[in-house]
Amino acid sequence: MTSRTIQVGDFRIVALSDANFALDGGAMFGVVPRTIWQQLTPVNEDHTIPLATNPFLVEGNGVRIVIEPGMGQRWGERQQTMFHIDHSGGFELVASLRAAGVQPHEVTHCLMSHCHFDHIGAACDLHGKPVFERAEHWTPEIEKQANLAQEHLRKASYRIEDLLPLVDAGLLHTFEGETEIVPGVTMIQLKGHSEGVSLIKIESAGQVAVFWSDVVPTRNHVHLPFIMAYDINATDSWEVRNQWIPRAAQEGWIALLYHDPIAPIGKFGFDGKRYTFAAL
Ligand SMILES: [Zn+2]
Repeated sequence: MTSRTIQVGDFRIVALSDANFALDGGAMFGVVPRTIWQQLTPVNEDHTIPLATNPFLVEGNGVRIVIEPGMGQRWGERQQTMFHIDHSGGFELVASLRAAGVQPHEVTHCLMSHCHFDHIGAACDLHGKPVFERAEHWTPEIEKQANLAQEHLRKASYRIEDLLPLVDAGLLHTFEGETEIVPGVTMIQLKGHSEGVSLIKIESAGQVAVFWSDVVPTRNHVHLPFIMAYDINATDSWEVRNQWIPRAAQEGWIALLYHDPIAPIGKFGFDGKRYTFAAL
C-alpha cells in the first residue's frame, strides 16, 4: 500500500479520492506504441486504461486548500459508460474530504490547475451549486477564457457549466504567470497540455512538494517523451517537462500525481538514462 498522506513542513498533504475513470490508452500515451505502454498498465476491453482523480488537501498555517476538486457527479449515462466513471467505494470528493477530518465549509481555497472537466467538475454539486461556498477558487485567466469561450480545439474537454456557477457566485479568482495564493503555496502557469495548465508548488521548512496536474498525469508519464495526445502543443509540453522534471528529480521534490490509480505521492529520480518514479 502506498502512502496517501505526507507532511511537508507545516503542511499536512492528503491525497483525496474523487471518481475512478478510464481514457483511451493510445491518447494517454501519444506517439508511444501500444507494445510499450501496454506493459505499464492494465488495458480494458475497449482499449481504455484505468485512471484515478486524486484531489489533494493541503492543511496548515490556518488554511485548508483543496487542489483540483475532481470529476464530480454531473454525468449522463452515456458519459458514465464511455469514461467508466465510478464513484463507488467512497471515491467521492466530499466523502473523502470528511474522512480526512475536514468539512466542505471549512475549505479556504480551491485551486484548479486548468479547467478540463475531469479536474474541476466536482467544484459544483449535482445541482450545480458550488461545494466550497466560502473558498477562494483560483485558476489561470487563460483557462477561464478557454472554458467560457466554448470554441476551442479541445472544446470537448471544457464544460461551461463547471465554471459558470463559480463565476456567478463571485468565488472565482484568476491570475496570469505565477501567483502565491498563501505563503508557501504558489500556482505557476505553464503551457503544452492546455492553454495555461499550471503546477502548484508547496514549500515549507525547506521541503518542496509539487502537484503535477496533466504535465505528469501518472507515474508512467515521467519519462520525458511520454507526452499525451490530448496535449494541444507537444513542443511546448516537451519544453515544460524538460525544464521541470529534471529539476524535481535533482532537488528531491515530492510529486503529487492527479491521475495515478496506485501511487498519488512519490518522488522522481534518474537512472542514468531516463527519469523514473518511486512511490512514497
Ligand atoms: Zn486530466
